[in-house]
Amino acid sequence: MTDTTLFYIIIAILIINFIVDKILDALNAKHFKDKLPEDLQDVYDDVEYKKSQNYKATNYKFGILTSTFSILLTLGFLFFDGFEFVDNIARSYSDSPIIIALIFFGIIMIGSDIVSTPFSYYSTFVIEEKFGFNKTTVKTFILDKIKGWLMMAIVGGGILALIIWFYQVTGNHFWLYAWGLVAVFTLFMNMFYSKLIVPLFNKQTPLEAGSLRDKISEYAQTVGFKLDKIFVIDGSKRSTKANAYFSGFGSEKRVTLYDTLINDLEDEEIVAVLAHEVGHYKKKHIIFNLFASILLTGLTLFILSLFISNPLLSNALGVEIPSFHIGLIAFGLLYSPISEITGLIMNLFSRKFEYQADDYAKNTYKGEPLITSLKKLSKNSLSNLTPHPAYVFMHYSHPTLLERITNLKK
Ligand SMILES: [Zn+2]
Repeated sequence: MTDTTLFYIIIAILIINFIVDKILDALNAKHFKDKLPEDLQDVYDDVEYKKSQNYKATNYKFGILTSTFSILLTLGFLFFDGFEFVDNIARSYSDSPIIIALIFFGIIMIGSDIVSTPFSYYSTFVIEEKFGFNKTTVKTFILDKIKGWLMMAIVGGGILALIIWFYQVTGNHFWLYAWGLVAVFTLFMNMFYSKLIVPLFNKQTPLEAGSLRDKISEYAQTVGFKLDKIFVIDGSKRSTKANAYFSGFGSEKRVTLYDTLINDLEDEEIVAVLAHEVGHYKKKHIIFNLFASILLTGLTLFILSLFISNPLLSNALGVEIPSFHIGLIAFGLLYSPISEITGLIMNLFSRKFEYQADDYAKNTYKGEPLITSLKKLSKNSLSNLTPHPAYVFMHYSHPTLLERITNLKK
């Protein structure tokens, strides 16, 4: 194979991926105005339903704009040897492959972030604002960006530097060491994410004593679940959208409730949402996801190790001096169809797990408050109640609201 052939394979992958995505979006958009199914009639009143349709249509059009811009930019970058240009800049500062790679990715990451900032600014301060979701200030928006960059530089840069160093020292065996590193990092993050990362962006306070806390403890006792770490996070600092999640395991396991969730739901509904989360834990979904992601990382790194030494990867992107970092970019682009498939499989599992967690909540607590809470959460985020099945199959990590309610009523 020549580098030109490989170049056009990469272009083809990007374009096909874009087209498939747009077809799915369009199919989904055709159903925005569908009549609501019987079980979902009471989610919205007429005014709110109009508003939700408007919200979906706005986001759909905006999505076409951003994704078209992004594909054109990527194609332009590839056709006009953008990677070679950035690589040359990085090489003018150092001879060390690690430093070159860090400068290279630094420029690419910050460059693409700056280019995409007007879009995320518009999305937050115009679209989300118009529909009453946005609570972020410009100051928080900018601070979030800076913190994100710093974290990326420290964590991403550190991991990249170590992986290239493994490659220099052990050659094609680097993937084993890299796998070990990423696995340890994943486990560590899972354990301490809430303690180390979340406080950089949000305030967390233990749920105060009172009827809600009592009801939660009472439920936790009936299923023999030690749940003493319940935190409330100030999600309302950024958006009115509500959420709850479980993190960590062993002695570090904790539940985080958005303050918006506590405002929107009744106590019983919150306990039902928590029962669902406890279900994920009890049914070992958290452990499964963790191991699946570590295994997938190992597989990806192994395949990467088969190709990374081949100069064809770098040459295909128009870069003359082959290097690990350029090879990594080319590999990432070529690997994207495979990661689409693994993502799809993970979504299949995830949707199955959602049913199991719903069933758990229904069997150990009650189904009815879970149904009303799901309806309220859908209403408050103006979510799409009539998605196209193909879109659901490809993109949804949760079953649709209708599917979940049908299952809970069974
Ligand atoms: Zn769930």
